[in-house]
Amino acid sequence: MNQSYSVSPIGFMRSCFKEKFAIPRQPQLAPAARGVLELVSPFDQGDAVQGLEQVSHVWLLFLFHQALEDKPRLKVRPPRLGGNQSIGVFATRATHRPNGIGQSVVKLERVEAGRLWLSGIDLLDGTPILDVKPYVPYADVIADASNRMAAAAPELIPVQWDDTALLQAREHGLRLAEPLVALIEQCLAQDPRPAYQVPSPERRYGAQFWDLDVRWHYPQAGLIRVLEVVPASV
Ligand code: SAM
Repeated sequence: MNQSYSVSPIGFMRSCFKEKFAIPRQPQLAPAARGVLELVSPFDQGDAVQGLEQVSHVWLLFLFHQALEDKPRLKVRPPRLGGNQSIGVFATRATHRPNGIGQSVVKLERVEAGRLWLSGIDLLDGTPILDVKPYVPYADVIADASNRMAAAAPELIPVQWDDTALLQAREHGLRLAEPLVALIEQCLAQDPRPAYQVPSPERRYGAQFWDLDVRWHYPQAGLIRVLEVVPASV
């Protein structure tokens, strides 16, 4: 049987994350990561979201639009296993997967006709959203569930600030009306660097959050220092 089906986005994510690097590897790891799901016609009317204000969290089903590939992979190398051990694609939540479909439980902060305000997201800006479903605690929380490969959230590393970088982040946070200091700390504490890379103190890392370039380095192993938070170069 060779059947194919087509799906089309019900909306697109406007996210604090403008590039893949430094996005947390799962939702809820950075509660300060916020964005707006902008629904498209015909879902951009109040009818489509009526009742959703009774729900605290939603499932997002989406396309990993920046990781789509023609040839399906059977095995992948998830960062969680250090990036050098391969494992069956269905045992992972890797982005390179058949049909490129992602799923995340995120907090629903506010509902408006045509717009859902979300936090705790792990989605790139512009991500096409295929569906939204309410989180149903009695069915979705499985108290005795286990995953021996990913038994607990990744360990956090300390994040320190240069004085000027902290001032910059506070000022831009006020301008954006966003918890920017918390966002940067929560994301960098996940240690976004690929596990196989041993960073020298001289090496600079960077990622764009909102309209800002954030740059940091590792003064020593297992410690991050934020160096600057400046308007992103266009
Ligand atoms: N929670 C989802 C899941 O389990 O399906 C996503 C998990 S995936 C490991 C998370 C990573 O996907 C993020 O760290 C980010 O780098 C990447 N990502 C997010 N949105 C993406 C997009 N639209 N296209 C490609 N990669 C994306």
